[in-house]
Amino acid sequence: MREVKEGYEVMRAVFLPGDRQVELRSVQRPAPGDEEVLISLRAAGLCGSDLHMHYRPARAQRRGPIFGLVTNPEVVPGHEAAGVVTECGPRVRGLKPGDRVAVHHMAGCGHCTECRRGWDINCQQRWGVYGLDLPGAMQDYMVARARDCVRVPPSISLDEASYYTCGGGTGYMALKRAGLGIGDSVAVVGLGPVGLAAASFALQSGVKVVGLDPLERRRGFAGQFGAMAVSNPNDADCMTQVRRATGHKGASVVIETSGTAAGRRLALEVSALRGRVVCVGFGDTDNLIDLQATVIQKQLDVRGAWMFSLPDLQDMLDDISSRGISLRALITGRYGIEDAAKAWQAFDRGEPGKTVLHWDDEVPGVPA
Ligand SMILES: [Zn+2]
Ligand SMILES: [Zn+2]
Repeated sequence: MREVKEGYEVMRAVFLPGDRQVELRSVQRPAPGDEEVLISLRAAGLCGSDLHMHYRPARAQRRGPIFGLVTNPEVVPGHEAAGVVTECGPRVRGLKPGDRVAVHHMAGCGHCTECRRGWDINCQQRWGVYGLDLPGAMQDYMVARARDCVRVPPSISLDEASYYTCGGGTGYMALKRAGLGIGDSVAVVGLGPVGLAAASFALQSGVKVVGLDPLERRRGFAGQFGAMAVSNPNDADCMTQVRRATGHKGASVVIETSGTAAGRRLALEVSALRGRVVCVGFGDTDNLIDLQATVIQKQLDVRGAWMFSLPDLQDMLDDISSRGISLRALITGRYGIEDAAKAWQAFDRGEPGKTVLHWDDEVPGVPA
């Protein structure tokens, strides 16, 4: 962490040292370097991966590899960033103070073949991640490379935009990866922020949707969304409920977001014959799957999806804006940065819906 020097502007930043502790510290406001912008944060989403990697682990384990990634408690967390550009460093083109932006948090080298395609997440060199090894969104200001920013259309709130940069966008892209189309029915396994997003986008695309989650309050929340059926995978007649909700064939598209071995087995089970199953959830590394009875005999098409490319993120925001669809109703928790501890506690308790840190003061230095 940078020392706070006298005469420098200070700002607030959240740190997660482990053991479910949340510290709000005063730090020096960063300055944008070459091809970088300074963003006044307006929204920072809380993501499940932060819960598992940063918030819940014991202090002693906070630096060790989790999901294969080394974490650092001295780095400001938060990888779902949306805000307003307040300053541009040298050689920034295409962005100016006042622009509303969201940040693609996987910052690849920018030069390898995958980065040139916008797939920074598959960068063949070293990649940085905002909120993991680069300072993230849970501070008043963050620096990001101009390259990693996408424009947020005026009809999309910055709270929503932050959701789309990871959890919400993962739900959207899972449906895209499944090739969702007319006549499909969708089953979503796991109704956390990613599953809810997939279910909501599917509903708004006019197809039948059933959501599966063992947690009663998550089912209760998802069940409020009109046409959506919900089912408890632990119920003996779960399969009957799924068939009833999907026109008696099982779901032609299944989105697996739980990351558990049981959830993955369930995903294969609730799929219709020749269905497309898209797995996005991280978690269990030991998976015992009866390939013969599921993938082979049901002739399933099992696909993986891991976030989205930079151009995908821009296309997604533009599509969401032009079709007038939205995940607005799923954002249930909004907290100021001073209440970051309350936000993490609510998220940790499993409050349904999406939780974000939210700034609603005027953006300093930017004309209204
Ligand atoms: Zn995330
Ligand atoms: Zn690269």
